[in-house]
Amino acid sequence: MKIGVYVCECGVNIAATVDVEKVAEQAKSLPNVAVSRFYKYMCSDPGQELIKKDIEEKKLDRVIVASCSPRMHEPTFRAVLEEMGMNPYYFEMVNLREQCSWVHEDKVKATAKAVHMISGAVERATYLEPLEKKEVSVIPRALVVGGGIAGIQAALEIAEKIDLTISELVFEVVKKLHNELGIINDDVGCVITSSNDFNDGSI
Ligand code: SF4
Repeated sequence: MKIGVYVCECGVNIAATVDVEKVAEQAKSLPNVAVSRFYKYMCSDPGQELIKKDIEEKKLDRVIVASCSPRMHEPTFRAVLEEMGMNPYYFEMVNLREQCSWVHEDKVKATAKAVHMISGAVERATYLEPLEKKEVSVIPRALVVGGGIAGIQAALEIAEKIDLTISELVFEVVKKLHNELGIINDDVGCVITSSNDFNDGSI
């Protein structure tokens, strides 16, 4: 197996607290790591090209990017793998920015932590499976269990689009509190009374 590790500086966001050069150097000695590099902005076009070049020339079969939250750029890097003919799920991301550089001040300790985080990702990468996306048909109905502020708001939003079943017990309790006893949490009452759907009995 050949794993590529790419450590991002994110300008000073990571590099000010983590010694990315040292991290990339130490990652070279981890099992199955064929190449390990650091770069200023890994999500930029030149950063992506760096990864593409290595995939082609070094025949990588797993890619790890140590940068920011997967919520931000996981799709970006998965697309890089896909473009190079690899299964996009042979990709692993390490959140060095939010989980290391932004939450530590001691550069020595943060750098050591970054190496540990990447070490874990390298191990995990060896177990990744080549997943395939598929579409499955679903029954467009929903059940909301819970009559608190979140449950009621969710019910109101879902009811606009698909068939909805509210857990009867909860519904009856909330309705009774509201209509008969006038006893209800202010927030819940506010949502209920502002809802025409509830008052006209359509949910
Ligand atoms: S990949 Fe993430 S951490 Fe790296 S430069 Fe882009 S936004 Fe910053």
